[in-house]
Amino acid sequence: GSGKGAAMVTAVAQRLALQSRLLEDSQTLSPGDKLRQVSAQLKKDMVRGLGKHTHHKAPVKMLPSFVRATPDGTEKGDFLALDLGGTNFRVLHVRVVEDLQTVGSQLCAIPKEMMLGTGQQLFDHIAKCLSDFLVSQDLKGQTLPLGFTFSFPCEQKEIGSILIRWTKGFNCSGVEGEDMVKLLKEAIHRRGDFDIGSVAMVNDTVGTMMSCGYRDQSCEIGMIIGTGTNACYMEEMKNVERVEGEDGRMCINTEWGGFGDDGSLRGIQTEFDLEVDKTSINPGVHTFEKMISGMYLGEIVRLLLLKLTEDKLLFEGQTSETLRTPESFLTKFISEVEEPDSGLENARRILSQLNLKWNEVDAHVVRLVCDTVSSRSARLCAAALAAIANHMRVSRKLDRLNTTVGVDGTVYQKHPNFSEELQETVRLLAPKCDITFLVSEDSSSPVAAVGGQ
Ligand code: BGC
Ligand code: MG
Repeated sequence: GSGKGAAMVTAVAQRLALQSRLLEDSQTLSPGDKLRQVSAQLKKDMVRGLGKHTHHKAPVKMLPSFVRATPDGTEKGDFLALDLGGTNFRVLHVRVVEDLQTVGSQLCAIPKEMMLGTGQQLFDHIAKCLSDFLVSQDLKGQTLPLGFTFSFPCEQKEIGSILIRWTKGFNCSGVEGEDMVKLLKEAIHRRGDFDIGSVAMVNDTVGTMMSCGYRDQSCEIGMIIGTGTNACYMEEMKNVERVEGEDGRMCINTEWGGFGDDGSLRGIQTEFDLEVDKTSINPGVHTFEKMISGMYLGEIVRLLLLKLTEDKLLFEGQTSETLRTPESFLTKFISEVEEPDSGLENARRILSQLNLKWNEVDAHVVRLVCDTVSSRSARLCAAALAAIANHMRVSRKLDRLNTTVGVDGTVYQKHPNFSEELQETVRLLAPKCDITFLVSEDSSSPVAAVGGQ
């Protein structure tokens, strides 16, 4: 009967609360709350990452971007923009007259084998896409400057941009520690059928912040919650110990995905987080990202479902071959199952697709599992964003901070209530900060990379 069903849902909820170790006391958000501890720990790690003598060992890298102010759009003419970071690679032709205009753009798929192949193969593929695009745009004879939005951690050098490590689904050989601009140019020269002008590289968070900066002058934070997660913000130069100069501000790419890589999040990691890390292509790194971003959320849900089934709390104890297959529970299923109106219907469809024998209670429990995992992600992101906002407010000696966050990423944009939960939690954790959230417009982030010229 429904009484038994309700009891089951309650039992599972309690179970999940314990397993997520983060939601148990998050209803009240008392000062000793785990989320506050997470936020305070990140604040400490940010300072370590900025410090001249501490940054080399810091899990949160805090990379200076050398972007000093939001662009004013004075640079005019035609540009190329590249965007590499997810499963697709984008090439754009951009014209700056009064404002930024996208003249043409093209998506190129990056096959999974290529993400794990050699760096040379990857860059040859990029150069080929670029060449095809130039032909289609009738631009082959021109040497245009290029803005490159690159969604991986890079150390900016005087000339060039050194890849610290691959993240997410990429693990090409021979690229870590190398200069990305050099590898791109070499691949283009190997072809010999076209050339490019100066190259400016920015992280996708920085591109997002800059693109939102066109619409809102007070945009000083960029945040991505998609396949991976990360944020950047405008830091006081005096706090940027690794760069000469005390005046003004510089955008810092935090690389908060690496938070916890020194074990500081061990207290809130669950057995599922450990399993996701162990089976990933980069065990031991990007601990925080693996609890939050789209690349991993579906897998966390899948592992939870398997465990609950093993405990006979789901599907009468019967899993399926499909559910036992890694990555069979897609992150987009989470959004579908949590849809306010069609969620349960979607859950039934997805469970059938996964070849599971479900009943009504199962559908409710699965929804609860999805909610638990996505809520935890939203709250963790909120704790991290609050750390940045609180830090900005204190270092600027302000009573209140008024700022805008430019946001991009499928998890933030596609999930039915992720953004609401994130925003609510930030308000609790950073009560002296008034934060406006601005979603970046399609393809605006790579376009903004031309502002780095
Ligand atoms: C990368 C960041 C990037 C983020 C979002 C992370 O895995 O390390 O550089 O900004 O993903 O794309
Ligand atoms: Mg300095």
